[in-house]
Amino acid sequence: MGSLQGRRALITGSFQGIGFGVATAFAREGADIVLHGLSDRATIKAAESAILKAGANSVLSFTSDLRNQSATEKMIDEIQEKGNVDILCNNAGIQFTATFSDMPRPKWDDVIAINLSSYFDTMHLLLPGMKERGYGRVINIASVHGLVASVAKAPYVAAKHGLIGLTRVAALEYADSGTRESGGVTINAICPGWVETALIEPQIQARAAKFGGDRDKGISDLLSEKQPSRRLATPEDIGALALFLTSKLAHNITGAAIPVDGGWTAQ
Ligand code: NAD
Repeated sequence: MGSLQGRRALITGSFQGIGFGVATAFAREGADIVLHGLSDRATIKAAESAILKAGANSVLSFTSDLRNQSATEKMIDEIQEKGNVDILCNNAGIQFTATFSDMPRPKWDDVIAINLSSYFDTMHLLLPGMKERGYGRVINIASVHGLVASVAKAPYVAAKHGLIGLTRVAALEYADSGTRESGGVTINAICPGWVETALIEPQIQARAAKFGGDRDKGISDLLSEKQPSRRLATPEDIGALALFLTSKLAHNITGAAIPVDGGWTAQ
């Protein structure tokens, strides 16, 4: 019997990338999965069938734009009409790189809305039910950029630092919910370094251009700068950690910001 049988998980931004890796890890344990993101019909269908094949008890998909708070409220209402949400993995995010002076104000607004404010919205709507039931897990996909800065990423670094603060406040407010037996309510952040997904592809391509378009050399150059392991993480790596955080054994891990960064933040 899968460890998540009878549990329902919403993973935002999960038709691809890290979110899909997390959804797959939960699906393998028999969870009911709610996928979400902005995607085309074919990608959604392919993701749904892969999630069912991995072992999910059921799968549902939503495509609301997280910049729109009332759309998020409507989505959460529709999800809750069909059942409780026991596990929330806030993962949707965007990146935009430009120096401070070149950063367009609309990009600031988008990054803050998607990478930070939407995380507040979903937590705000779902945490009270988790407390009432004595079990709940919020796993916020932050970044090493929630712990340290890099140039040309002002909105992203600000959003991710803010997200770690948001995670800590929520963890404190919900720390005494439930019991060891029920599993409690925990709220944590995972802080990946470089993970191989579409999000970092423009940065890989920019580096590859320095080596005549050689993608492997571009990746190697990117990693050599900050990630001492010199290995990209995969969405599966992040999914495995997220899965552990859902377990009852993890009931006392809350308010943590856990790096998966090959030593980046140890330097
Ligand atoms: P990705 O681009 O593959 O996936 C991002 C997801 O967010 C997509 O499903 C997309 O549809 C969704 N999304 C974007 N804008 C949205 C909006 N307005 N409304 C609803 N959904 C929206 O990227 P990824 O690398 O899998 O990133 C997932 C998370 O991991 C992000 O929060 C990112 O900041 C974080 N992260 C990624 C890396 C990395 O190296 N890839 C490193 C650290 C942190």
